[in-house]
Amino acid sequence: MKVDLLQHSSIEICAHAIRTCWQSFDKSDDGGEKDRDLIDRVGNKFKHASTLEHLTYTFYISDVSRALLQELARHRMASPSVKSTRYTLKELKDEETFTNGMSMLELKETYTNASEVYADVHMTRASKYLVFTDILGVDFASVVALENLRLILKDGVANDRAKFCLPESYKTELTWTINARSLQNFISLRSSKAALWEIRDLAVMLFETLPEDHQYLFNSCVSNDS
Ligand SMILES: Cc1cc2nc3c(=O)[nH]c(=O)nc-3n(C[C@H](O)[C@H](O)[C@H](O)COP(=O)(O)OP(=O)(O)OC[C@H]3O[C@@H](n4cnc5c(N)ncnc54)[C@H](O)[C@@H]3O)c2cc1C
Repeated sequence: MKVDLLQHSSIEICAHAIRTCWQSFDKSDDGGEKDRDLIDRVGNKFKHASTLEHLTYTFYISDVSRALLQELARHRMASPSVKSTRYTLKELKDEETFTNGMSMLELKETYTNASEVYADVHMTRASKYLVFTDILGVDFASVVALENLRLILKDGVANDRAKFCLPESYKTELTWTINARSLQNFISLRSSKAALWEIRDLAVMLFETLPEDHQYLFNSCVSNDS
């Protein structure tokens, strides 16, 4: 999984929006300690949380599964633009076999040592397209699904039909824009132990990718359960 912060609005902008309500622009310290305290007081403590919507973040999120994507898409107060399988599945057409014709059971019987399996050249190539779980049976099933997809594409089936047999582990990437209010909600829900492990990793990584002087707004949202 990889997360890059492409852009973010400044503390100063959010403080300016809040100061609009009281016309107290003369008290601004240009995004310094006073402005940061103001945002926390009004946005978090006074629950005038709509003011936090003036802070927006755009992330580039890659090497995540489509299983994660469908959970991420449930967060309506965010804007995703996602790599389209319809247009990009041709990336698989020129690949060599990922399984040497073996079934999942044959793979399981042949390869038992996990560290050797993941170092194997076929698995390394497959990991360009799949998120692995480190459970051999699950990951072999994903690789077989990837191989089936590759063969279907080689047979000339169009992407928009072939995509129906994609495994949930198939990797995707997206540009994702979200405001601070919604990101607080996202990090609270998805850093919890109750969340899927992969989206939980994402929630923590998003927090860590935030500019240091913004993180204080999210500290209380990051779950400490393990
Ligand atoms: C641990 C966990 C397990 C889950 N399991 C399932 C599951 O089994 N099945 C499933 O379908 N989903 C599941 N979900 C997804 C969950 O139901 C939410 O869809 C998802 O977490 C997005 O949360 P949200 O609505 O708060 O976020 P957003 O959609 O980003 O909304 C943000 C906030 O805006 C407000 N809001 C948005 N839309 C409305 C609206 N229409 N009416 C009123 N207020 C609104 C709410 O205050 C909301 O919290 C799970 C989520 C978690 C964290």
